[in-house]
Amino acid sequence: MSHNRAYNFNAGPAALPLEVLQQAQEQFVDFRGIGMSIMEISHRSKEYEQVNDETQALMKELLGVPAGYEVLFLQGGASTQFAMIPMNLLGPGKSAGYVLTGTWSDKAFKEAKLFGDAYAAASGEASGFKRMPGQAELTIRPDTAYVHLTSNETIAGSQFPHYLDTGSVPLIGDLSSDILSRPVDVSQFAMIYAGAQKNLGPSGVTVVIVREELLAGSPKHVASMLRYDTHAKTKSLYNTPPVYSVYMVNLVLKWIKAKGGLAWMEQFNRDKTQLIYDVIDQSGGFYTGLVDPGSRSRMNITFALGSDELEARFLKASEQAGFVGLKGHRDVGHLRASTYNAVPLESCQALADFMKQFQAQNG
Ligand SMILES: *Cc1c(COP(=O)(O)O)cnc(C)c1O
Repeated sequence: MSHNRAYNFNAGPAALPLEVLQQAQEQFVDFRGIGMSIMEISHRSKEYEQVNDETQALMKELLGVPAGYEVLFLQGGASTQFAMIPMNLLGPGKSAGYVLTGTWSDKAFKEAKLFGDAYAAASGEASGFKRMPGQAELTIRPDTAYVHLTSNETIAGSQFPHYLDTGSVPLIGDLSSDILSRPVDVSQFAMIYAGAQKNLGPSGVTVVIVREELLAGSPKHVASMLRYDTHAKTKSLYNTPPVYSVYMVNLVLKWIKAKGGLAWMEQFNRDKTQLIYDVIDQSGGFYTGLVDPGSRSRMNITFALGSDELEARFLKASEQAGFVGLKGHRDVGHLRASTYNAVPLESCQALADFMKQFQAQNG
């Protein structure tokens, strides 16, 4: 591989496109001819304001965000959104429905309970989180302020093939680990949010796409920094934003656009993950997927081998062969290959080949 780049299957922070890293490197000490880096100038300068505006516009363009939504760049990661959502949107006398699908939805649910009445609107627990709940499993209480779901469970390796319909109840989606990996009908959602470090850029910025009518209702006692309306009113420049992270997201969005946008990305991610799922499915049980085929993620492939000992051997051999990040999350164990947008097809082909070879030698 060029530049001695690893086969990077890290779950997050994760691979960034090589072209983007090279572009950032070129502009690192002299951004667009100003004789300074983007990190060394005011966030109120015209140069940064241009980056900020352009990044918002690109996000709207790529996702096809309809009129009536704001794109915000916040800090604190997706985990801060777990709290900001109920703080701003779960008023007295209201409840919030959470679709429970694994570790991340559970964290969001627990956080909401700190602020008000949160309940499970659907749960994949009975299936051991092997599949995403279907429409028939969704129960929404009449006093519900919003329903929250996790588009892609990064740790379990499951993903909604299509989202649940919540009718007139606002739907909020955590898309941290699959935003911009496939086309999304944003109008289904009242709000989408995503920490950047899986599919958008480096950590440090969290993208929030929110319907304008949701901005008005925050209770008065919520701190300024933790209110959506504060950031919407100031184009995400209320205080100093994470300028370098936003700049990197800008480059990643341009990279996605140049590739062919989200339809292209979806096919690319299907092709990449299919190489690996095919090896699992054709291994005669040597490898087993941890998720039912209908809910399999195109971002995080989780799989097991027959014993702990065999998995340890697999990990060791994979590391020696140049693969990084294949150890499963401690919550579920086993193995996981994260194949976000920036992971090249060659890395997935190499992993598929390695898995076949490992089976031939150890099966
Ligand atoms: C990684 C992840 C988070 C947590 O993101 P932070 O930015 O670290 O807070 C939340 N939800 C999902 C689905 C994730 O993959």
